[in-house]
Amino acid sequence: MGGIVDGRHAVVTGAAQGIGLAIARRLAAEGARVTIADLDGDRAEAAAAEIPGAAGIACDVTSEVDVQAVADRALGSGGLDIWVNNAGVTKDASLRKMTLDDFDLVVGVHLRGTWLGVRAAQAAMRESGGGSIVNISSLSGKFGNPGQTNYSAAKAGIVGLTKAAAKEVAHHGVRINAVQPGLIRTPMTAAMTPEALAATEASIPMRRAGEPDEVAGAVLFLASDLSSYMTGAVLEVGGGRGM
Ligand code: NAD
Repeated sequence: MGGIVDGRHAVVTGAAQGIGLAIARRLAAEGARVTIADLDGDRAEAAAAEIPGAAGIACDVTSEVDVQAVADRALGSGGLDIWVNNAGVTKDASLRKMTLDDFDLVVGVHLRGTWLGVRAAQAAMRESGGGSIVNISSLSGKFGNPGQTNYSAAKAGIVGLTKAAAKEVAHHGVRINAVQPGLIRTPMTAAMTPEALAATEASIPMRRAGEPDEVAGAVLFLASDLSSYMTGAVLEVGGGRGM
């Protein structure tokens, strides 16, 4: 008891591993009841089993039905206060090699998924008396990464979506902010060669990759009342990269 999100109900998408799992753990440690919604339902349940009071549920964020079901379930179990749109995938390739399917997959999961999450969450929060939505963008959406035309487009789109939606619902007590992580050590970045990792780390002012929990700290801040006068903001968590 005494956590900064005590008694709140939080949904975190794509939280079976990586940054989402760190966010779920951090919110739970600060008193929230967390729902882990992930494409992989078994891993969502396994992750939830390790976190006191958490539940895991299968949810494809590109499915309108799945996302609505998660929001309805939250409303039915006492209200929805926090929703983090974190689920993500990469499918990197140069423009010469990237297929339309690669583009559609990445834009679908990030942009359609975040839009569906924002729409369902803000409606549920308006019924619950307000809340906080946090969208996970990326510094790749700020400065553009070669080989990531799909991902950079989607992550930049999340910023526009965040601001437009924040303006629409601010007067209903729903805040919507975004976080742009830089290079973070997760299964998503484990595929990088040691050379590529070292080269990227050398270009970061803090000279290192970040840890998932360092993103979770910023998300906790935006999810909690500590940021009660912030909406439509974009927080960079990148060790100074791209400033
Ligand atoms: P990850 O690959 O470790 O985890 C992503 C999770 O999302 C997985 O559990 C996966 O099952 C889930 N997922 C994928 N597609 C889904 C779908 N359609 N519906 C529901 N869940 C789905 O990735 P991560 O590194 O933890 O990244 C989390 C978020 O942070 C992503 O949005 C990513 O783009 C963003 N991000 C990551 C980094 C980084 O360096 N790792 C940097 C900037 C932004």
